Amino acid sequence: MASSRQKREQLAAKKSRKRLKRRQAELTEQELRIKGEAAARRLIAVDSSKIRSRSVMPSRDVPLFAGKYYLDYSFTCIDCRSKQVWTGLQQKWWHEDFGADWERIAVRCRDCRRKERSRRDEARKTH
Ligand SMILES: [Zn+2]
Repeated sequence: MASSRQKREQLAAKKSRKRLKRRQAELTEQELRIKGEAAARRLIAVDSSKIRSRSVMPSRDVPLFAGKYYLDYSFTCIDCRSKQVWTGLQQKWWHEDFGADWERIAVRCRDCRRKERSRRDEARKTH
């Protein structure tokens, strides 16, 4: 016969197993909801196996998309003040193929980026 202490422990273990199961079910449900919404918004999934950066993904919109999808990112170019959208695909290339850190995000439009690059190249040549 199991002692009452053993019984209590067994009961507690059973309870915590149940709680864990419920938590997992909730997580899967949340995951499915995120997946569904990501598909509806045609979000690009993060391929974490290609991420070389050890920095932490920026927290914008992370609770909903759990750091698993790239969200189109609206910003104002710091040089010409034009409104820009940095698309999920561009971000995927930047972080996965180019290997840039998560902190390094777009601040300039394409034109200003090109000007900035040639300005830097010029500066390197003359020094
Ligand atoms: Zn610009």
